[in-house]
Amino acid sequence: MVATTHTPPPTSHRAQAARPRRSPAAPLLAAAWAGGFAVLGLWWQNTVSVAGSAGWLGGAGRITGLLCGYMCALLVMLMARVPWLEHGVGSDRTARWHASAGRWTVGLLACHIVLITLGYAAQAHTGPIREFLSIVFDLPEMLKGTLGAAVLLAVGFVSARAVRRRMRYETWYYLHLLTYAAIFLAFWHQLALGADFVGSAAARAAWYVLYAGAAALVLWFRVLVPVRLNLRHRLRVEVVVPEAPGVHSVWVRGRRLHELGAQPGQFLRWRFLTQGLWGASHPYSLSAVPQSGLLRITVKSLGDHSAAVPTIARGTRVWAEGPYGALTANRRRRRKVLLLAGGTGITPLRTLFEALPAAPGDLTLLYRARTAAELTFRHELEAIADRRGARLLYALNSPDGTRTPLTADRLRATLPDIAEHDVFLCGPHPLAVAAYEALRAAGVPASRIHYESFEF
Ligand SMILES: Cc1cc2nc3c(=O)[nH]c(=O)nc-3n(C[C@H](O)[C@H](O)[C@H](O)COP(=O)(O)OP(=O)(O)OC[C@H]3O[C@@H](n4cnc5c(N)ncnc54)[C@H](O)[C@@H]3O)c2cc1C
Repeated sequence: MVATTHTPPPTSHRAQAARPRRSPAAPLLAAAWAGGFAVLGLWWQNTVSVAGSAGWLGGAGRITGLLCGYMCALLVMLMARVPWLEHGVGSDRTARWHASAGRWTVGLLACHIVLITLGYAAQAHTGPIREFLSIVFDLPEMLKGTLGAAVLLAVGFVSARAVRRRMRYETWYYLHLLTYAAIFLAFWHQLALGADFVGSAAARAAWYVLYAGAAALVLWFRVLVPVRLNLRHRLRVEVVVPEAPGVHSVWVRGRRLHELGAQPGQFLRWRFLTQGLWGASHPYSLSAVPQSGLLRITVKSLGDHSAAVPTIARGTRVWAEGPYGALTANRRRRRKVLLLAGGTGITPLRTLFEALPAAPGDLTLLYRARTAAELTFRHELEAIADRRGARLLYALNSPDGTRTPLTADRLRATLPDIAEHDVFLCGPHPLAVAAYEALRAAGVPASRIHYESFEF
């Protein structure tokens, strides 16, 4: 690792204390578990006794069905892009919760289908296949329910890591959207057949409220809020400029951008309404503090979408959603801050470097890149460091291309009081993992390492 330092002249900036905000993750998880137990309570209340293999299989089938139905509503809420979740918990963490909840849902669904079929078959003294066909074709709402279940299982299959890796992101994304249709189709059989709902108007009402709440969140935050945002701000591409090899900045002009509420470190989802690009929205972080009607993002060419960004013409209309993300000043706990960037991870950290309240000497940016030519924003970063009295360090590979690992000793040699810092970390996954481990070994508590992943 070749570390080059840019030492700034002293300045007279005054530090402003940033008020830390508590993450809502713990109360949210507690509420989700409490909801799960309430669902189990519903089964308990409606069950007088469980007898024989048919009773046990049917009971287990009912429990897995109820929990699966509950998880479906949670899945939808997690992806509704509720600002409280996106800003408080973080989009990447919310997406991980959604993925994990999705795996549980698919597992519960499979168990529900098998257990209910075996339970009914034991009760009717028939074979499971015959019973399965009878359930699907004879019971009310079951054709729709089966179709919904089939779609959910298929979405679960294409979301398995090994399968998803072989697919274009857009193909996976649009297949994934079928989950909404699947949940809608499966909803009705729960009320028509679920023993816990048939006899209880209160349980039915609670289920309607749960699902209507999830639908309202999606409608509001994924449809109406973006429509209002784009009507209000009328975004258009102003200019696209090269920044480094394979890296371009897009300046976007809009009206009343101060009302967007974008904080340094956040990102938006961008859809450029031009041929070949309008079909998908991609997340890119703001790479500059919004100023005089302009936003800037900076994109590294990777695949179809990002590689086409340099060809976007001036005046192209832009559809944006956001701002999202929790890599913001609200996370900060300590006076001293280290920003640790790798590759394109520099984009949100460049904005924080510019805007995070800090006294001279309290802010350090450590920017890791393979070569000096790949350092994006070099002049801007040096100007910011000079203006703010911040430290700017570059960690480059050796001239022969070898990369010295990031270790606790190296971090301590660079910043002897590193354990006293808050660290904002953004970069490729392997770098982030190595940096996280080195930071923990150097004494930085996990609660003060703030990381946002570029991979959802
Ligand atoms: C919160 C966040 C902020 C980001 N900020 C920046 C940034 O400032 N600058 C930058 O260069 N890159 C950023 N990225 C990464 C950028 O979104 C991807 O590199 C880009 O979407 C790749 O699309 P592609 O079609 O060119 O490449 P592909 O080869 O199609 O995709 C490469 C990988 O990018 C991810 N990806 C692709 N499309 C999407 C999508 N629509 N939504 C989410 N993930 C997708 C997938 O994991 C995929 O495997 C950010 C990502 C996230 C999640």
